[in-house]
Amino acid sequence: MVIVATAACGADDGEKPASQATGTATTGQAPDTGKFVPRYDRAIFSEEAKAGKSVAQDNKILEDLAQDMGAMYRLPKDIPVVGMECGAFNAFWDPDSQSIVLCYEMFAVAEEYAKAQSEGRPDYFNVYFDGVTRMIAFHESAHMAISLFSLPTTGREEDSADQLAALLQLTDPGPSGAGGVAAAADFWFDISDDPAAFDADTFADEHSLSQVRGYNLLCWVYGALPDVLSVLVTMPGEPEQEGRLPYERAEGCVDEYKQMRAAWATLLKPYIEVELGVSDDMGTTTMGAQPTTTIPTR
Ligand SMILES: [Zn+2]
Repeated sequence: MVIVATAACGADDGEKPASQATGTATTGQAPDTGKFVPRYDRAIFSEEAKAGKSVAQDNKILEDLAQDMGAMYRLPKDIPVVGMECGAFNAFWDPDSQSIVLCYEMFAVAEEYAKAQSEGRPDYFNVYFDGVTRMIAFHESAHMAISLFSLPTTGREEDSADQLAALLQLTDPGPSGAGGVAAAADFWFDISDDPAAFDADTFADEHSLSQVRGYNLLCWVYGALPDVLSVLVTMPGEPEQEGRLPYERAEGCVDEYKQMRAAWATLLKPYIEVELGVSDDMGTTTMGAQPTTTIPTR
């Protein structure tokens, strides 16, 4: 299967609509009168889309995402979360219909890679599948937030959306949280193109290279939990510890994580119900008690 390295939300970024909720109540919190509404559209053309629809629908994935994202955001109106046959691996915020679209092909691809990656370690299947699909859904929710709440962004919106996706995923204290972020990093490496095939289109794309997105996620999850996730880092010494994240990048990851968490928390304050990222007392308790087998380290 060929997947373009720039997969996910390249199809429909469109014009940003006027904000639906620029005003905030006197409490400083925006109105919360809407919810995420799951919807499964038809899949009729490709076997891949049909398979992706089945895995999503049978496991009530859109329902779970709608519920979990609903607990995170304060919405001024209902936002559909739509499963759709797109003809390719993709997901996007659709500014015209004001909905989050998750293509069935994306679920099929995530399942395929989850199966391959969990060979010999079956407990990794759900961590990987949930980690990838939730990361992509949360990424699209970040585009939604930027558009719906007219949030300012500097730098590339795609990179900002990856930041918020990781921060939202890290609010989950279970294996889908930190383990899911690391698994999503694994996915970006899994689908990345050979650098020898890079061309002008690759470098000009609005998304960072898949490899870059993978290293960013590793940096941020390590930065959130440096005490328990040092296994992700290549550490000099005898013997050298071989994680995937180079030591030189890892050195700055705690600060990088804190900086982006503070920025996103400031921007989203009126619109969010959760404390972004890892809760301050979690690093040495909950995560420390978890088996590290669910954290991919290479
Ligand atoms: Zn995007």
